[in-house]
Amino acid sequence: MEHSLGDLHLLGMIADKYLAQTPSRAARKKSRENSMSFKMPEQGRDWESLRNEMQTRGGNDVKWRDGKTAVYVFNAGPDVARVQKEAYTMYMSENGLGPMAFPSLKQMEDEVVSMGLSLLHAPEDAAGNITSGGTDSITMAVKTARDYARAQGTLKGRPNIVAPWSAHPAFDKAAKMMDMEIRRVPCGPDFLADAAAMGAVIDDDTIMLVGSAPCFPYGLIDPIERLGAVAEAHGTWLHVDACVGGYFAPFAKMNGVPLHAFDFEVPAVKSISADLHKYGYAAKGASTVLFRSEELQSHMIFDCADWPGGRMITPTLAGTRPGGAIAAAWAVMNYLGVEGYKEKQGIVCAVRGHIETGVKRMGFKIVGKPLLGLVAFYHPDYDAFALWGKMAERGWMTSVTTEPKSLHLMLSPFHAAVQDQYLADLQASMAEIDAGNAGDVNEVRYS
Ligand SMILES: *Cc1c(COP(=O)(O)O)cnc(C)c1O
Repeated sequence: MEHSLGDLHLLGMIADKYLAQTPSRAARKKSRENSMSFKMPEQGRDWESLRNEMQTRGGNDVKWRDGKTAVYVFNAGPDVARVQKEAYTMYMSENGLGPMAFPSLKQMEDEVVSMGLSLLHAPEDAAGNITSGGTDSITMAVKTARDYARAQGTLKGRPNIVAPWSAHPAFDKAAKMMDMEIRRVPCGPDFLADAAAMGAVIDDDTIMLVGSAPCFPYGLIDPIERLGAVAEAHGTWLHVDACVGGYFAPFAKMNGVPLHAFDFEVPAVKSISADLHKYGYAAKGASTVLFRSEELQSHMIFDCADWPGGRMITPTLAGTRPGGAIAAAWAVMNYLGVEGYKEKQGIVCAVRGHIETGVKRMGFKIVGKPLLGLVAFYHPDYDAFALWGKMAERGWMTSVTTEPKSLHLMLSPFHAAVQDQYLADLQASMAEIDAGNAGDVNEVRYS
């Protein structure tokens, strides 16, 4: 299949059937080729004109600030955005690579990690680091688990990862990079990780068992306690991917949402990935990778000396680490505090409940029983991708799942202002399809 890097996520998530056939695709490709052949201008330009041009270019992007986007962005309101922006620019040039030069960043990273660890019930000796994002955190956790297995001397052949089918592709990427096998096991009829089936494919070379809290497609928390029992029975490392829920679920729980134990509370959990730039409402480029103990974390650290530049020790893969991302995460966490997050996550859960009620009234079925900020739903009589297209025409930029084929929302506090409009637009989309106007998939635009 022909595709370019920028389209990969859309091709996979939203369905190649739509975007691959969009006529504007050819035009977009051409413009991309053109801009790639651009050379650096001989003379620089003034900032004023550049800023105008950037503003104009942004005019073609989704209008996420209006609230009609429920994927890619997290909108916690203008005050949080201001904190992100000012904190980011304050430390924009500083480098987390140099803790001796920038003890400020080291201290902020340590405090962010400590906040994450305490929210996720880590024991005293736990440790972690800030990474650039969820994929980074997951890749580092996989590397750590492999090196831990090597140190135990248990690894015989090619290492493998056992994950539920709903787990994020970040695990496949990590497996590809480190030449591992990934064994994806079908979920149960409840769309949750099937602990027994996963246990059945664990062998001596399994370096990691994965559960999500929650998984991205369905927004459901896997049965981490059951996975923990399997991990203990086989002596396998259990990683919880809480990228999208790590800074949401703890507050939902405080608000009284009945969640099963999903974090370090479960003794078999050795590592957790939790993104700050999702429901932590931090600026993009910030996640945390957390370990039950410093000893486990020590298998992540790189220590290289065989070059003329002297010994270089880095906790994660990154060399240069953007000070802005660390500073913005620290600032937002302290700006909101527990009360602020409880309030925001309470709003998100209420919006999800409202939308669930609304779509059920229209005949939709919810995929599983989501309790956090993500929800997927499908209608027995309407094609989810056709509905997605109709909603896109109305300016909604959302996601889909492929199995079952459903509409998918990742909600932010800001969606409280547009939840009824979403439901009204969905009703109108169904009416249009009823009227025989299922829409030409080639005409799908999202504005
Ligand atoms: C977003 C997400 C990831 C990957 O995080 P990035 O920051 O996009 O790299 C991994 N797992 C889950 C469950 C996610 O939602």
